[in-house]
Amino acid sequence: MSTIILDGRAPAQELRAELRADIAVFTEQYTHPPQLAVVQVQGDAASDRYVRSIRKICNTTGMAFHLAQLPTDTTQATLEQSLRQLSADPAVHGVLLQMPLPAPLSAEQAVLHLDYRKDVDGIHPISAGLLAQGRSTLVPNTPAGGMELLHHYGITLEGKRAAMVGRSAIVGRPMAALLLLANATVTLCHSRTLDLGAVLRECEIVAVAAGRPGLVTGDMLRPGAVVIDFGINVQDDGSITGDVDFAGAAEVAGAITPVPGGTGPVTNVMLLRSVLTAARNQEAARHS
Ligand code: NAD
Repeated sequence: MSTIILDGRAPAQELRAELRADIAVFTEQYTHPPQLAVVQVQGDAASDRYVRSIRKICNTTGMAFHLAQLPTDTTQATLEQSLRQLSADPAVHGVLLQMPLPAPLSAEQAVLHLDYRKDVDGIHPISAGLLAQGRSTLVPNTPAGGMELLHHYGITLEGKRAAMVGRSAIVGRPMAALLLLANATVTLCHSRTLDLGAVLRECEIVAVAAGRPGLVTGDMLRPGAVVIDFGINVQDDGSITGDVDFAGAAEVAGAITPVPGGTGPVTNVMLLRSVLTAARNQEAARHS
């Protein structure tokens, strides 16, 4: 079967160009650019790389970027204070709490100190509740990127059977909610799901965010299935692999995202789009 490769790089480039134009319009209208603030507790190399990539895309699209870097031994109280300060700053429109946080810091507790209207990664319980009710404007960026990729490649979801493997608050649950909002019939699978293959073989759409390299194999898929792999697993040699056995799955799937180069490139663009949405909402409320 010839498989369509769902390349994320080309749509990410198009989306960046659109975003640059939209940010220019916002900046002209309000005489200042939208601003993203990233709160990062130091000490994680992968997180440093991600923050650098966010700074770069902000620079190239005209969005203002502020990095609040906290030392590794930051207390929970200091972290929460930083989130409260940025939430209260009218020049900041979006706040991203960079993960992972070193122990014993709690992201779940910290996020409660973030104004949900600036929660551009959709991790606040209010954001999750709004999404569950289909009323959300700020959606977690990784699943938003997955949906954008499906849309870009003209893959329709209405009436399709879709499985999401992984139920994390940041990827699995919101992706399941987005698939449901698009009128797919959704099954949410997790580590206690019995016979994952039997569930997946029923589905036309399979999305995976489990953090388990090669978890989904070709024999678990229905011929022609569309496979969205969110997994980012760093191997011993430094290379990146997904949660799907790409070679085996590609022989069965109708369309599949590569790793790297699939969902990843679209994620950052979704973050900036989310900041722009938050900025428009806040400025409109201020000027009304
Ligand atoms: P997580 O560890 O919070 O959640 C993993 C989920 O997978 C859990 O719900 C667990 O129940 C499920 N799971 C684990 N083993 C399973 C199994 N054998 N069968 C079925 N389900 C199983 O992980 P996360 O933060 O959602 O991240 C998952 C993956 O997605 C990681 O590889 C991560 O790097 C990647 N990720 C990618 C992006 C992106 O931009 N593409 C963003 C965030 C995370």
